[in-house]
Amino acid sequence: MTDLFEGATGIIDEALTYASVSEDTVERLKHPQSALAVSIPVRMDDGSLRTFRGYRVRYNDARGPAKGGIRFHPDVTIEEVQTLAFWMTIKCAVVDIPYGGGKGGVTVQPKDLSMAELERLSRGFIDGIADAIGPDIDIPAPDVYTNAMIMGWMMDEYAIIKRAKTPAVITGKPLSLGGSLGRDTATADGGFFITQTLAPKILGDASGPRTAAVQGFGNAGMTMAELLHDAGWTVVAVSDSKGGIHAPEGLHIPSVAKVKRESRALRGVYCEGSVCETVDHKVITNEELLALDVDLLVPAALENAITEDNAADVKARMIVELANGPITPEADEALYQRGITVIPDVLANAGGVTVSYFEWVQNRQGYAWTAQQVRDRLQDRMVEQAMGVWERSGGGHNMSLRVTAYALALERIGAAVDATGHKETFQGR
Ligand code: NAD
Repeated sequence: MTDLFEGATGIIDEALTYASVSEDTVERLKHPQSALAVSIPVRMDDGSLRTFRGYRVRYNDARGPAKGGIRFHPDVTIEEVQTLAFWMTIKCAVVDIPYGGGKGGVTVQPKDLSMAELERLSRGFIDGIADAIGPDIDIPAPDVYTNAMIMGWMMDEYAIIKRAKTPAVITGKPLSLGGSLGRDTATADGGFFITQTLAPKILGDASGPRTAAVQGFGNAGMTMAELLHDAGWTVVAVSDSKGGIHAPEGLHIPSVAKVKRESRALRGVYCEGSVCETVDHKVITNEELLALDVDLLVPAALENAITEDNAADVKARMIVELANGPITPEADEALYQRGITVIPDVLANAGGVTVSYFEWVQNRQGYAWTAQQVRDRLQDRMVEQAMGVWERSGGGHNMSLRVTAYALALERIGAAVDATGHKETFQGR
C-alpha cells in the first residue's frame, strides 16, 4: 500500500503521544481485518457484458459491526477503500457510536451508465459481497456518486439473496424502505452544528456576516452552503467538478442550489434566467476557490484538495472538512503552523454516519423517529463530541483538533480491544 493509506495511518503515531493505548490496539489498527475484491459482470443495454471491480474492506470491528459507505467512482482502488475504512473506524469512535469501520467501492464512471445498467451494477456488487455484510457484521451506506435509490436496490438484492427483509443491512435507504428522516442532510447538518459551536471560539466575535467558500456542491456541500446561507453566513463561492462561481458580496445559495438540482451543472448557473440577475459573479477554478480570503473554507468534494503545493495559498482562518481526507498530512501540518484551525473529517462529517446509526437503531426497533427527534439527537451528539475534542485540545493550542480526535478515538477503540484481553492479561499480571 502506498501514500494515501500510509498518510492516513501515520497520524496514529502522533496521536499515541497523547493517548494511553495498549500495544495490542496499535498492532490491531495497523492492518485491515478483511479486504474483499470482487468482479461484477454487468449486462449492458447493448447486449455486451462488462466487468467492473468492486471492493469491501472491514477495517476493524472491535467496537461493533463495521460501518461505511459505498463509492462509485472511476478512481476507486483497494487502497482508497482501505483508507476510507480506516477513517470510518476512527470516525465512529470519535462520535462514540457502537460501530467499527468499513468501506466499499466500485471502479466505475456512473455517469456513463444508463439507469438500468446502474441498477444491475448495484445488485451485482451486493451479490459479490453479500456474505461479508449484514446488520451485525458490516453495514454499508451511500458515499460519492451513490444515493438512496441505489441503497434501495442494494437492500432489495440482499433481501432476495437472504430470503428475508433485512432493512438494517444498509442505511441511507429511501424513507419508504425504512430510511430515516434527516439522513439525506445529516452530514451537512452535523458539520453545520459543529461549525456554529466552534466558529465563535475560533474566529472570535463577528462584526458582520462571516464569509465562507464551499468546494464540492453535491449532497454534503450543497446542503452545507444552504445551511450557512440560512444562518446568515455570506457564502461567496461554491464549486463542483466543472469549476466554481464567486461573488464577493455573496451568492444567493437557494437559487444556485435550485438550478444545480435541475440542471446538475454549476457553471452557467448564473447565466440563465432570473438567477443571472441576482448578483454579479465570476467563474473561478477550484484552485482559486481554495485560495479565497474567507473566514471559513469547506472542502466537500474528494480527497487531497489541499496539498503541500497549495496549502500556502489558503487564506481561510477555519476549515471544516466535510469531505474525507481533503487535506494531505503535509498540508495539515503547514496549516497548523500558520494558525489555521482545521476541524477534521473524522469529526466534521460524522453527522452522516451518526444518522445512519439512528436509522439502524430505528430499523431494529421497528419504530420510526420524527425529523425533530433525529435532528435533536444529532445536534446533542455533535455538540457534545465537538466540545470534548475542543476542550481536550486546549482550544487547538496544545495539539491540533485532528490529533486530539484521533487520541480520543484510539482510547475508545483501545478500551474495546483490551476488554477482550490484552498482553498483561495473558502474562497473568
Ligand atoms: P456527491 O457525489 O454528492 O458530491 C460530490 C461533489 O464534489 C459534486 O458536486 C462533484 O461535482 C464535486 N467534485 C468532484 N470532484 C471535484 C473537484 N475536483 N473539485 C471540486 N468539486 C468536485 O458526494 P457527497 O456525498 O457530497 O460526498 C462529498 C464528500 O463528503 C466525500 O469526500 C465523501 O466521502 C464525504 N462524505 C459524504 C457523506 C454523505 O453522507 N454524503 C458522509 C461523510 C463524508
